[in-house]
Amino acid sequence: MSRISSISAQEILDSRGNPTIRVHLALDDGGRVSASVPSGASTGENEAVELRDGDTSRYGGKGVRKAVANVNEVIAPKLIGHDPVRQAEIDGLLMALDGTPNKARLGANAILGVSMAVARAAAQASRLPLYAYLGGPCATRLPVPMMNILNGGKHAANSVDFQEFMVMPVGAPSFAEALRYGAETFHTLGKILAKKGYATSVGDEGGFAPNLKSNEEACELIVEAIRAAGYTPGKDIAIAMDPAASSFHEGDSYNLAKSGQGRKSSDEMVALYARWLDAYPIVSIEDGLDENDWAGFAKQNAAQGARIQIVGDDIFVTNTAFIRRGIAEKTANAVLIKLNQIGTVTETIQAIGLCRQAGWNYVISHRSGETEDTFMADFAVAMAGGQIKTGSLCRSERIAKYNRLLEIERELGTAAVFQSPF
Ligand code: PGA
Ligand code: ZN
Repeated sequence: MSRISSISAQEILDSRGNPTIRVHLALDDGGRVSASVPSGASTGENEAVELRDGDTSRYGGKGVRKAVANVNEVIAPKLIGHDPVRQAEIDGLLMALDGTPNKARLGANAILGVSMAVARAAAQASRLPLYAYLGGPCATRLPVPMMNILNGGKHAANSVDFQEFMVMPVGAPSFAEALRYGAETFHTLGKILAKKGYATSVGDEGGFAPNLKSNEEACELIVEAIRAAGYTPGKDIAIAMDPAASSFHEGDSYNLAKSGQGRKSSDEMVALYARWLDAYPIVSIEDGLDENDWAGFAKQNAAQGARIQIVGDDIFVTNTAFIRRGIAEKTANAVLIKLNQIGTVTETIQAIGLCRQAGWNYVISHRSGETEDTFMADFAVAMAGGQIKTGSLCRSERIAKYNRLLEIERELGTAAVFQSPF
């Protein structure tokens, strides 16, 4: 048995240049691991608390020295001597040590960094790759990637209200081929945008961020890019969207202010999506409505849930309490899973367990502020849900996850399974 001999944290930077936390953990068998925590921009209001210093003399108040101190001074002394394979017990200890329902005292960033490092240490001590340690010997399914090739909303300073337009290579025969389909489509889209005189600079997740005339134009250009890259829209490559509607919900309406397309009611948003489903090869819509619009979500799910995947992100925040309500009220048929929305590996796996029980899909997701840590790639294979959302085909913090999945697919060899849920 290996035991934890030291834990320490440090402040590092994420992909947006904002501070985040990296945790280093050592075992008495000589093992050494680290884990880094991502950070969102269009965060759900019920997410676990990301502890920031609020000291405006450093990083505009975004420093994480308090979270670092909580790891070094509060958490580390309690975990020294523990066996890292006891993940659920250790995560329970972390939650008890925090003592709040939303990890406000120690910070979900501090807690998650430790929780991820513990999992990684246990994998190393067990001499298993992380995906095999967390998923067992039958964890052989590679996820179909949702690749965010056109950014808007809070992730880009452009005229597009909807946050993410993603391509999903549903007809690819393997993960490596899916990645190639996506990269070729991304580069083709870049050429099309340039030819039309649009900017080809990218947003936070590496997708292009042009000033389009409307939100619809995003879908039109992507369909054009899929075709021009030599693929059949809907058959080889489908579209997934994350409007992230909480970010443009105001009062009791949805304000499409960036594009100048005006205000819409919840019913009008659902009707807009219905028109889009007829016009474009869309297989998945995430956060089409606001995080508090449970009734609107249920209406969309009733009308469109048999046809497409309706994913809840901000509304469920990877929290079993909200997912349970969603299952009872038929709010959606899938959940976006983000480790840092809830703050421990164990609770994240519990959220996935609920999805499985209900027959819901789940998508393992990055955050818009990422690091080079590839934990979520292994996690996606371990959880075997067949879907991952980790950004565009440029920017190394996104590509690191794709490259890790390529490694895993290679390592699994003939056992690797790649099968679209659509
Ligand atoms: P965030 O966005 O990481 O900025 O919250 C991702 C998402 O909404 O899915
Ligand atoms: Zn989202």
